[in-house]
Amino acid sequence: ELLQTHKLLDTCEAGLAERYTVHKLHEASDREALLNEIGPRIRAIAGGNVDGALMGRLPKLEIIANFGVGYDSIDTKAARERNIRVTNTPGVLDDAVAEIAMALMIGLSRQLPQADRFTREGRWEQGNYPFTTELRGKTVGILGLGRIGKEIAARAQAMKMRIVYHGRNRQPTEPHVYYDNLEEMARDSDWLVIVAPGGPETNGIVSRQVLEALGPEGRLVNVARGSLVDEQAMIELLETGGIGGAGLDVFADEPRVPERLRKLDNVVLTPHYASATRTTRDAMGALVLKNLKAHFNGDPLPSAVV
Ligand code: NDP
Repeated sequence: ELLQTHKLLDTCEAGLAERYTVHKLHEASDREALLNEIGPRIRAIAGGNVDGALMGRLPKLEIIANFGVGYDSIDTKAARERNIRVTNTPGVLDDAVAEIAMALMIGLSRQLPQADRFTREGRWEQGNYPFTTELRGKTVGILGLGRIGKEIAARAQAMKMRIVYHGRNRQPTEPHVYYDNLEEMARDSDWLVIVAPGGPETNGIVSRQVLEALGPEGRLVNVARGSLVDEQAMIELLETGGIGGAGLDVFADEPRVPERLRKLDNVVLTPHYASATRTTRDAMGALVLKNLKAHFNGDPLPSAVV
């Protein structure tokens, strides 16, 4: 029997229902009652949002198959202690997420939402739209040159940008300049693109100091997790011109987006939808199913993180 923790794509849910007896925790009117009844029989979870307390209710749990590459909503330490495997969906969403990172950069630098409104509202007839800025020749600092970060780098190079990066390790096979210090990278960059994992290790690493180093002409793009950024500091600096602008797909308290952020004109905001294309979400769902199938067949897991 399998526990589903949140809504999944129809194709993925159909695949689960074909193979397993599925219980939907997110649809239960009485979560406690459901867990009391079926908890002792659950051997697998599909989806995220799994803490140690939930694992404690499922003594036969063997595997958590997360829908998404970021598994910061799963307590992996608790899983490891209980010998529970955890899988994610890497690789299949890299292009889709990189496309949105570029879209946010272009949208912000060319003021695409504003220019669209300007044209729609007939304001063009009163005069031309003010000048905007281009990406060409600018330096982009990528925080997290991983699978998605490398796809963003390839696209930024096509835009004739210069790439630098920060992570815990230098990657000797990468041609770009490495910074072991995030603040220094921000100081030297026109754009800071965040695409490192969320979780305790990266919580708030894009601090007020890092944002101040990025500076009034600097712009921020976040397609990773809201938790990496000091959101209060970011909003203040956006309001006062301490940083130039931000393109954000992710926020600290989703789906709630702070009113102050929504009022700003130097931001482009999207609803955590970077991987949300039919093709990519189908591929993510297929990988969830593949991991579960491999586990119950005793085969090696295609994408295990624990
Ligand atoms: P990868 O694991 O391939 O890359 C992560 C990168 O982050 C690595 O280069 C790693 O380098 C770096 N990194 C890890 N920990 C730290 C740290 N503590 N400090 C600095 N850098 C660090 O991940 P993906 O590219 O597949 O995905 C990245 C993230 O993007 C996901 O975790 C997810 O949260 C987010 N995401 C968001 C989506 C959206 O819809 N907006 C969709 C998909 C993913 P090193 O090891 O050298 O530190």
